[in-house]
Amino acid sequence: MPTAEIITIGTELLLGEIQDTNTAYIARCLRSVGVDLYRTQVVGDNPGRVADMLSEAAKRADILICTGGLGPTVDDPTRDALSLVLHEPLEFRPDLWQSIYSYFQRLERIPSENNKTQATLPRSALAIPNWHGTAPGIRVNIGRAQAFFLPGVPREMEEMMTTYVIPAIEISFPSRQVLVTRIIHTAGMGESQLDLLLGEYERMSNPTVGLAAHAGTVDIRITAKANTVPDAAAMLGQVESELRHLLGNTIFGVDEQTLAQAVQNAIPIGSRSLLLCAGWSVDAVQVFQQIRSIQLETLPHPLPDPVETHLCSKSGENNRQTIYYASIHPESNLLNLDFGVFSGGKYNFCNRKFGGPPANGLQWAINTIMNLMREHLLNKEDE
Ligand code: ATP
Ligand code: MG
Repeated sequence: MPTAEIITIGTELLLGEIQDTNTAYIARCLRSVGVDLYRTQVVGDNPGRVADMLSEAAKRADILICTGGLGPTVDDPTRDALSLVLHEPLEFRPDLWQSIYSYFQRLERIPSENNKTQATLPRSALAIPNWHGTAPGIRVNIGRAQAFFLPGVPREMEEMMTTYVIPAIEISFPSRQVLVTRIIHTAGMGESQLDLLLGEYERMSNPTVGLAAHAGTVDIRITAKANTVPDAAAMLGQVESELRHLLGNTIFGVDEQTLAQAVQNAIPIGSRSLLLCAGWSVDAVQVFQQIRSIQLETLPHPLPDPVETHLCSKSGENNRQTIYYASIHPESNLLNLDFGVFSGGKYNFCNRKFGGPPANGLQWAINTIMNLMREHLLNKEDE
């Protein structure tokens, strides 16, 4: 497997003024063609520091992909950094200037004198065409590493990645393996509990299995590496079925599937339930509106005790409708969640507390409620 590193260049990234989205895009492209990404770095607009980073990365990786700093202004450092690393002067390429000039003409603009710097390249470099902007990309070998330099502007970078860089990698490294990833979503079991059950899987080297905790849910990522996509998918499928056997209903979906969809799928066709949300803002309950078979009612305050009486009276004749009740209220440093179900004449109640970062509290409460509803619906099915 060839190995790659990504370097994003731009002082505005280090100042936190813009968020680096290029790295994630490039990482996904590399993954899709079976390139192992080992390291990503950010560096400011300083030719010396960019040059140091390039020469170190080129000693380790087969492929370097860099974005940013290709513009015509003095603070765009990439060309100068390359000249330093390669010990090659920048030379003016008239043909490249012609294509930059035509780009400006198409937009009925006149290029400025400093745009000419964009037509300069180190002697051994090739230009990568840029159909959506003025800055051409650069392809060059640094030692044994193949390096690709792309503009920072995401739209330009993405187009050049898919039309030039990825095909070039596929030609240069024909015997790559492919990686296939699946995310298994779980709820109802904490990360450490899952970790205890899955320790053996987490130590495997292919497929790899990793956990990522979110507010109220935990994801299990399975990644398999093989010569072909079907081979990798089969390896992945084997691990997934073992995990399903081990975890049962704790798993609520894979990849794009959401908890709201899982609740919707657990509701029998034609039945309708009511969810009473007390103490919630209108925005917070928006997510419950995705569950089509659940009617929502918001209350400004928790229902007075005993909650059961109120739910029973709401349930109407024959106690036919299932009513869920969810109330949240902060209590010192904790978020308190009261959850009740009135169904078939019976009332069940539970309380859960969240002590994590306050910013995650609402998401935790939403996910926990949806999962409690899902568990109730699945248990009802078993009855
Ligand atoms: P230009 O010719 O437009 O100057 P450039 O290659 O010099 O292109 P930069 O000047 O580094 O690129 O960045 C141009 C713009 O692209 C930034 O202002 C920012 O909006 C966006 N950008 C740069 N780097 C990134 C990144 N890593 N992730 C997301 N956006 C980025
Ligand atoms: Mg720039």
